[in-house]
Order: sequence, then C-alpha cells, then structure tokens
Amino acid sequence: MADGDRDSRRDGARENSRGRKPVAKPAAKPSRAKAPAKAKAVLEEQAATRPGRRRAVANAAAAAIGGAFKPWTKKEVETAFSRFEEANPHPEGELNYHDPFTLLVAVVLSAQATDAGVNKATKTLFEEAPTPARMVALGEEGVARHIRTLGLYRGKAKNVVELSRLLLAEHGGKVPPDRAALEELPGVGRKTANVVLNIAFHMPTIAVDTHLFRVANRTGLAPGKTPLEVELGLERVIPDRFKLHAHHWLILHGRYICKALKPECPRCLIADLCRWPEKTPA
Ligand code: SF4
Repeated sequence: MADGDRDSRRDGARENSRGRKPVAKPAAKPSRAKAPAKAKAVLEEQAATRPGRRRAVANAAAAAIGGAFKPWTKKEVETAFSRFEEANPHPEGELNYHDPFTLLVAVVLSAQATDAGVNKATKTLFEEAPTPARMVALGEEGVARHIRTLGLYRGKAKNVVELSRLLLAEHGGKVPPDRAALEELPGVGRKTANVVLNIAFHMPTIAVDTHLFRVANRTGLAPGKTPLEVELGLERVIPDRFKLHAHHWLILHGRYICKALKPECPRCLIADLCRWPEKTPA
C-alpha cells in the first residue's frame, strides 16, 4: 500500500473517532460486485465437467462444515476402528514395491496419479532400476521413458534420480527411517514421508491424502482445514493400538465407500457414528 493511502486511511479513522461525519466510501465498481458470482459459475461448471475439480469441491465442502459437528466420544472412536479391524485385520496399500527404496519411488510417482497408473509404470522401471545406483545410472531420460504415462513425469523423473543420488551420497544407499531426513529428499513431503515410515518401517504415522482429508472432515472424526490439522487431529483421537493401520483403513474407506462424489452410506460400516448430514439413501 502506498504511504499516501495509509495516511488517508489514518485521517479517516481520526475523524470518525472525533464524531465527525465519516468519509464516504467510494462506490463499489460494478465489475467487483459481479466477480464472485462469475467465479462461482466457473467453479460450478468445472465441478460438473472435471472429476478432479468435483472431488476438490466435495472435499472443500466437507472441510467447511466438519468442524461444526459434535466431536466423537472415545467409545465411538473405539467402536469405529474395532469395526474396521474386524472387517480387514491386515489392510494393505495398493502400490507395488519390493523394498523401502521402491516404495519411496512409487509414492513419489503417485502424486496426482492413480495407484494403478503408477504400478503400470513402475513394473518396467523397477525391472531396469531396482536400486538407487541403477536409478542414477538410468538417468532422467531413462526414467522418463518408463513413466511418461504419469502426469508431471519430467519433474518426477528428475526427483527420482536426484533422491537416488542423495540416498547413495548421504545414507549409504538406504532409505532413512527418519521423517526429517526423508523430507530433505526432492519430491518428498510430509505425506510421502508418513507413508514410507508407516509401510516400510511400521511406524504409527498417519499420512493424510485427499481421501483421509475428506473422511476425517465428513465424519467429524478429526475435522481440519489443512492436511496437517487433520493429521494431528487423527493422531489425537485414534487410540494407539489402531494407529499402525489407521492410515490404510481410512484411505480404503475413502476410496471405495466414502467416495467424494457419491458416498455409499448404506454400505458404510460406521454410518451410525458418522456426523455427515447428507447421507445417501439405500
Ligand atoms: S455414512 Fe456416508 S458420509 Fe458417513 S462415512 Fe459412511 S459413507 Fe461417508
């Protein structure tokens, strides 16, 4: 803001505090008044035609009202996770991998891609480069050749080669079982680090992806406006004995039952506990 603008605002405030007539605000420009309606129309059009946009809209709707629901009691949380456990005692993710290194690469490649798409790409990639040394030798162009069906493949190829080089240079070619060290690697954020720590090293971390974010907000289990808020909320409410598998139970629940566009509430194991007011009918 220019100094002149600040001064004129201060002057206006002084005048008001002395009881003088307030300075009239300039009339709103017509284009400003129309902007939100236009933006809303564009969003609605995108929501109707683009699945990714529709999912984002559904998630945002859940996050907008999730915080207003009555919090779950300890007994309700215990009941929900006991049901998940009974239905699926040993839940597993759907990415193919052989060891911590290939898991790390698969998770890095899975950003904005389906697990099925990643599995197709990594089948040949891991045959040719199953270790950090082989990945570095393959190089960016070589990695890109295998993963070109994935979105953002050039950037992902660059990250995969560079993280492989760093694993060799700084960690003896091994994936470190440490969040901070993982997050130093290119293409690895908190969510990826949590997935690797949970699956490869059996730590009770909870990685919040689009599905967990939606489920936590829709159900009212751990509402939050950001993935980190949701993650910390889930860590607070989920009993320790369920934490190791909580990530998988919730991701599978979001992917196959509590779907973004049309949740299958009649098939839902926790429908009686869920706070979502717009459950789908049988
Ligand atoms: S009842 Fe419906 S909205 Fe609630 S968790 Fe189950 S599928 Fe999702």
